[in-house]
Amino acid sequence: MLTQPEPIPLPKTFWSFETGQPIEKCGLCGCNLLNPDLHYVIEKAFKERETIFEHALCIDCHAVSISQMSIESMEHIRSYFSERVDTEKRQFEGAEQFSNDHEQWMAHCMVKGYPASECGEYQIYGFCNGGNLIFDVAPYLLSGEVIEEIMDQLSSETIDALSEISDRLFGLDAPKDLLLI
Ligand SMILES: [Zn+2]
Repeated sequence: MLTQPEPIPLPKTFWSFETGQPIEKCGLCGCNLLNPDLHYVIEKAFKERETIFEHALCIDCHAVSISQMSIESMEHIRSYFSERVDTEKRQFEGAEQFSNDHEQWMAHCMVKGYPASECGEYQIYGFCNGGNLIFDVAPYLLSGEVIEEIMDQLSSETIDALSEISDRLFGLDAPKDLLLI
């Protein structure tokens, strides 16, 4: 039986680069993410160890944002992962081998297996609750190569929807490789 590792206080790697503190508000609706009843998602992108962008979305805004993607794109993303990652196995083995050592969960690209230290660009994803990091499929790390491969499969409708969300989250200098997965 799968025993989910105990959540841990949000590790610094998921904290805001801008404030040096955990992100407190949803990037879209502004709700308080530290409310213990609320689940939320953090996505951070790094290049040569520098933070390129970061955001946190409450579970509702995340679901609404995901629903803006075309059905075709969602299917592409789903099959991209299901053909390459056995998420149940990852969850099971991660819990057994890494427990709640978040660094081990994110030590390699979840798809390609490259060590994080060898990925010039990568993104990390964490599922959180009340300021804690939860362990299920996430936390995980995706190399820049994976992000590119996925972006290449998205419809123009989805790319437009994602860039609209990116504009709302970041305003000027909105990143083009925001991927809400
Ligand atoms: Zn929200």
